[in-house]
This record gives sequence, structure tokens and C-alpha cells, in this order.
Amino acid sequence: MRAPDFSDVQAAAARLRGHAHRTPVLRSASADARCGAELHFKCENFQRMGAFKFRGAYNAIAQLAPAQLAPAQRSPGVVAFSSGNHAQAIALAAQLLSVQSTLVMPSDAPPAKLEATRGYGGEVVTYDRYADDREAIARRLAAERGLTLIPPYDHPDVIAGQGTAAMELFEDTGPLDVLLVCLGGGGLLSGCLLAAAAMSPGCEVYGVEPEAGDDARQSLRAGRIVTIPVPQTIADGAMTTRLGEYTFPIIRDGVRDVLTVSDDELVAAMRFFAERMKMVVEPTGCLAAAAAFAHAPQWRGRRVGVIVSGGNVDLAAYARWIGGL
Ligand SMILES: *Cc1c(COP(=O)(O)O)cnc(C)c1O
Repeated sequence: MRAPDFSDVQAAAARLRGHAHRTPVLRSASADARCGAELHFKCENFQRMGAFKFRGAYNAIAQLAPAQLAPAQRSPGVVAFSSGNHAQAIALAAQLLSVQSTLVMPSDAPPAKLEATRGYGGEVVTYDRYADDREAIARRLAAERGLTLIPPYDHPDVIAGQGTAAMELFEDTGPLDVLLVCLGGGGLLSGCLLAAAAMSPGCEVYGVEPEAGDDARQSLRAGRIVTIPVPQTIADGAMTTRLGEYTFPIIRDGVRDVLTVSDDELVAAMRFFAERMKMVVEPTGCLAAAAAFAHAPQWRGRRVGVIVSGGNVDLAAYARWIGGL
């Protein structure tokens, strides 16, 4: 497969039209005052299934060979491994495209997530997170059942789909000086870089990852993909250990820098969203906003785009974070 470019993002936008939500770009006077800048929040917490991942999942499944797109009972279908938003995104996108989906998820995943995934029509295969290799299980299922494996970030169609979030943002705001993007495996950031280079040349794009899992920053410094142990952070959507073969070169060539934020800064941003903007945002979804606040002097007087990537959060944990318990 060839690396994606901006024309792939445009094609993804056409595929997603009428299927993905066009999420709002919200402003907040108190956020602007805190940063001395003009902040534009692209709110993917309001996307279908609650995160931008629906974009990449739908764009990837919609392009499978016609044989795969036959009615569910005749289609071999798709398989994915994920403990979080990617599983739900694949299950929902597959359901909408009448494709069967199999999701390999940890047996101790939050019951709400397992339920949501089954609710979208996905078949859940559980594994023991401490003993089993989930990728090996997914690959075996793919081989045995003729399923197509859709990875969470390192895939050209997934990257192009995620880029439509930034594309919509620039359509709404015009060119921006700065764009801050949450960063795990880099699918979202790579897609946003393709959109920014074409639609807002000169825009400084930053990836934001958890302090405990700064593999992308290390990779940029080293000039190669650095793999780290699974990081301990409340940003569960960014507990990735390495960038991908497709995402790394796009990020290396396009990103201005990678910033990091602490879990405490994520909680502060989560509270800000709840209190000031009346939005439920999951910890990983707060990465970019937390960097907007933590590095405020850097953005003074500038127009800054902030991707709010998702809103799927365990409510008991959310109550503890918000209540400061
Ligand atoms: C997956 C995810 C991310 C990270 O996306 P990558 O493409 O892996 O970098 C950020 N935020 C949320 C809410 C996610 O689900």
C-alpha cells in the first residue's frame, strides 16, 4: 500500500458524507482568556460512537473489495484488536456497511465497552490481557476465517479518514497559526498533518502525548521509531508503545514538535471542559487542550486549533476525577 496524501483525505471526506457527523467547532471566552489566544475546539467527542475513530474505520471498511461488501451473511468481514474506541468504531462502521465484524478485546475491559461493541453488532472474542498476544489472536482469526485485519492507526485508509477531522476544522475556521492534536499511534496526527499542509500552509502542527508515554518525542529525537514499555497513564487511548510504519514518516516530516502533558494536567482540562463548556471529554481527548493551557505563553495572540478527540469515559472514574476524590 502506498502512503496516503491529501487527495486520499478528500476522497475519505466524500465517503464519510452523510455517514459521519460533521462535529461542531466550539469557542470558549474563558479558554481564550487563559491562553491569551483564539482557541477553536474541534469536538470529536460528539462524533458517532463518541470519538474520531469512526472516520478512519468507516473509510477503511468502505474501500474493501466488493466481495467483502456483500450482505453480512455472505461477507467474511473484518477483524480488529482494541480495548477501546477502535473496537467500537469498527463494529459500528461495519454494521452500517453490512459487513461482519470480530473484535478481539481484553476479558477485563470495562463492561460498558464490551456491551457497546456487541450493541453495534460486533462479535467479541475476549483474551487474557496478561497471558495472550491479542495481535496473534487477531491474525489467526483473520487467516482461519478469511477476515481483513483493520489496524487502529497504521493504515493509509485509517490515516486518511482521521484527516477529515482537521479538514472540516479548516473549512470552518480558515487557516490557523497552530494546530494541537492528541497523539497515540499517530493516525489522527498523520491525517491532520496532510490536511494542514494543503489547507493551512505554515500552520504549526504539534502532537501531544502523555508524559509517561513519550515514545513519539523520543522517536523524533532519535530519527527512528522508538518502542517503549506500555505507559501508565489515565489517557488509555494513548497507551501505545510505538508509532507506525506509515505514521512515523508523515509525523517526522511534518510536525513542528511533540509536547507532553501530565495526568494532573489532563484532569484539570477534563474539569475545564465539564465546568466551562459543559462537555464530557475522556482523558485522552484532553491531551491537546491540556497542552494549550500548559504551554499558553507559546500561543499568545495566535489562532489555535485544538482537536478534542473523544468522550468515552467510565462514569465512575469520571466522577472521581471531576470531583477531585
Ligand atoms: C485512539 C485515540 C487517540 C489516539 O489516536 P492515534 O491515531 O492512535 O494517535 C486519541 N484520542 C482518542 C479519544 C482515541 O480514541
